[in-house]
Formats: sequence, structure tokens, C-alpha cells
Amino acid sequence: MLEVDRLSAFYGPAQALFDVSLHVKAGEFVVLQGLNGAGKSTLLKAVMGMEVKTRGAIRYGRDAAADVDVDVDISRWETHRRAKAGLGYVAEDRRLFTSLTVLENLTVVARGDAASKAQVARVLDLFPVLKTMLKRPAAHMSGGEQQMLAIARTLMTQPQLLLLDEPCEGIAPVLVESIRDALLALRASGITLLVAEQNQLLAASADRLVRLVAGTVSAS
Ligand code: ATP
Repeated sequence: MLEVDRLSAFYGPAQALFDVSLHVKAGEFVVLQGLNGAGKSTLLKAVMGMEVKTRGAIRYGRDAAADVDVDVDISRWETHRRAKAGLGYVAEDRRLFTSLTVLENLTVVARGDAASKAQVARVLDLFPVLKTMLKRPAAHMSGGEQQMLAIARTLMTQPQLLLLDEPCEGIAPVLVESIRDALLALRASGITLLVAEQNQLLAASADRLVRLVAGTVSAS
């Protein structure tokens, strides 16, 4: 599904990743661990084609029957092309439209047809708490609720591979459990997950842990 091969990443002259290699199999739930500054966010941004310059290969494929060949090197693709090919990304800061309501945040990325309505219903089933606050502006939600909304909004694009940056950081334990349950339900539905996260509850549910230390993979 995803193979990162000797990937280096740079912010201008500053190098943040050094020859990182890892793979995520289709349907796997992989948690990326590491201390602050280890390069977790940078790796997700590099896979999504955002903010950093990279060297090395990022091979991705949905499946043999899809319109993207397996194992295509997407490292030079624009972000929107990667999104169209099935990559979904939720940034650490969530990037919600805070003046829009929950429902508006979901529908703003949809086309407004019947298929979109069905998709809204599907993502709300994953996060039942959002159903109780459809008309609430995102600015008036807790951090955990906002995180769920950010994941739900990205799911509106029907990604095959979901990249999440610290979804549980600073979130109440009960909502961490809800997020974990939603991620497990997504995995059960066939979505592949690569999640940067320090929270042990999430790590305990992962198929595999990959540890980054100072921009390199130290253990998998
Ligand atoms: P955190 O949990 O604190 O986000 P992280 O493991 O996600 O940590 P990154 O944010 O990927 O780590 O940072 C990796 C390295 O890249 C760090 O040395 C950081 O200072 C540097 N870095 C991150 N963003 C930028 C930026 N916009 N410009 C320059 N350097 C950056």
C-alpha cells in the first residue's frame, strides 16, 4: 500500500528525515512513535507532499484493479493528485473551518448530491457524538470533538490510506477511546492507517509500531 524508501526531507537547508524506509501493508494500522522533533509530522507531510522537499521514493498503490497502478512513485506528485489517488491527511492543528458548523464542515468538501448525504451519514455513524452537535460551530467544540470532526471531514473524501498527526494529543481519555474505536472500525472497513501518536492506548491497538529517533527509523 505504502512504501517509503530511503526518504530524506528538508525544510530549506535543514534536514529533518535521513534515509527513512518503512512500509505499510493494505489494511494495516501502523503507529509512528518518537519524541517531539523526531520527525513524525515531517514524515506524514512528506507522504502527503506538503511543506517539505524530499529525496527518495514514496511508492503507493490502492490495488491492482484501481485506476492507480500498484507501487507507483508518487514523491513528485502534487498534494491534490495524491489526495485524488486515495491519500487522506489530518494535520496536528486540525485546520477546521471554525466559524462553520459541524455539518457545514462535512458538506463543504462534498458536492451536495445524494452520494454525499450517504457519506455524511456513514462518517457520523463512526463518531456518534458529532450527531448531537450538527449545528454547533466548530469553534465551540472541545479539542477531542474537533479532532473527530477533522477526521470525519477527511473521510468525506473516501481515502484508502489515512495519515493522522497526533489525533489524541491533549484529548480527554474518554474521547481518546472513541477515536481509537473509530480507527479500529475504519481498519475493519479496509482503510489503511498510518498514525503519528504517543498515546499508549492507541499504540496498544496498532498492528505494528514504527519508532523514529532524530529523523531515522530506530525500530519497527
Ligand atoms: P512533534 O511531536 O513535536 O510535532 P515530530 O516528531 O512530529 O515532533 P517534526 O515536527 O517532524 O517532529 O520535526 C522534525 C524536525 O524538523 C525538528 O528538528 C523540527 O525542528 C524540524 N522542523 C519541523 N517543522 C519545521 C519547519 N517548518 N521549518 C524548519 N524546521 C522544521
